[in-house]
Amino acid sequence: MVPISFEFYPPKTPEQHVQLDKTVAKLQAHAPEYVSVTFGAGGSTLSHTPETIRKLRGTGLDAAPHITCMGGSREEIRSLLKLYRALGAKRLVALRGDLPSGMVSAGELRYADELVRFIREETGDHFHIEVAAYPEMHPQARDAQVDLKNFIGKVRAGANGAITQYFYNADAYFRFVDDVRRAGIDVPVVPGVMPIANFSQIRRFSELCGAEIPRWISQRMLAYADDADSIRAFGAEVVAQLCRRLVDGGAPSLHFYTLNLSRPTLNVLAQLG
Ligand code: FAD
Repeated sequence: MVPISFEFYPPKTPEQHVQLDKTVAKLQAHAPEYVSVTFGAGGSTLSHTPETIRKLRGTGLDAAPHITCMGGSREEIRSLLKLYRALGAKRLVALRGDLPSGMVSAGELRYADELVRFIREETGDHFHIEVAAYPEMHPQARDAQVDLKNFIGKVRAGANGAITQYFYNADAYFRFVDDVRRAGIDVPVVPGVMPIANFSQIRRFSELCGAEIPRWISQRMLAYADDADSIRAFGAEVVAQLCRRLVDGGAPSLHFYTLNLSRPTLNVLAQLG
């Protein structure tokens, strides 16, 4: 198997804290290369991501914060970078983010390439920087070629690697990686993997982020209706098959979107052996 990493979101309520603790305890046994913690654009989780990074690093995990520029100032980003350095973090996931509804100010840095450049200016080579990639195209991009060019811009600005938006169509990933290599970019492009446990939730996410759920998957899922066991079993099988294809086709590692739950990811890992 290739190395794996897990993504968590920062808990806010006491119940969410307990949930994350349980999830981390179970997933830690799989020796992830690192774990990452998302960050709300516009400062909505400003205090929660660093706190979660501190806590996870205290358990011995290499915890990497996500950092976004949408809605934030250079000064805010600068102080977060200082804080993460002080916490011992050496890896960041750098993103533009999305403006929360009702928020009007886009911030001082407009796109992720500007954020990557800013991080390099401020901290040199201290951080290993991952950026986002979209094998099925970012939903706001005019077309795939423009989106690819913008992705390349992030790498040229100083990113060391990329994690993709999730997808259920392996060919989209292979095609994207081929295009990136043809453009002379050789950084690792790690597939982001979304296990399927709650199908209506995944459908909602997919509409927002532009990930396509193939008809053969959605039709079967819809037919299972409220049969949660069948949804979980089929979901784990489909996602494990996808992971196997990706690894066989050269994916350097796998990044699991856990949504702070252990079971859906563990079910996939169990099938992968
Ligand atoms: P960018 O790379 O800036 O791209 C955004 C859009 O602008 C694209 O359409 C692109 O083609 C275009 N573009 C890029 N550069 C330029 C340019 N120089 N000129 C003109 N157009 C340009 N969101 C969060 O809020 N918090 C998180 O923690 C978080 N984690 C994520 C982790 C991963 C692995 C992924 C894949 C996504 C994550 N997101 C997160 C979601 C992400 O913030 C959104 O998808 C957002 O809409 C785009 O972020 P980006 O960094 O890809 O933006």
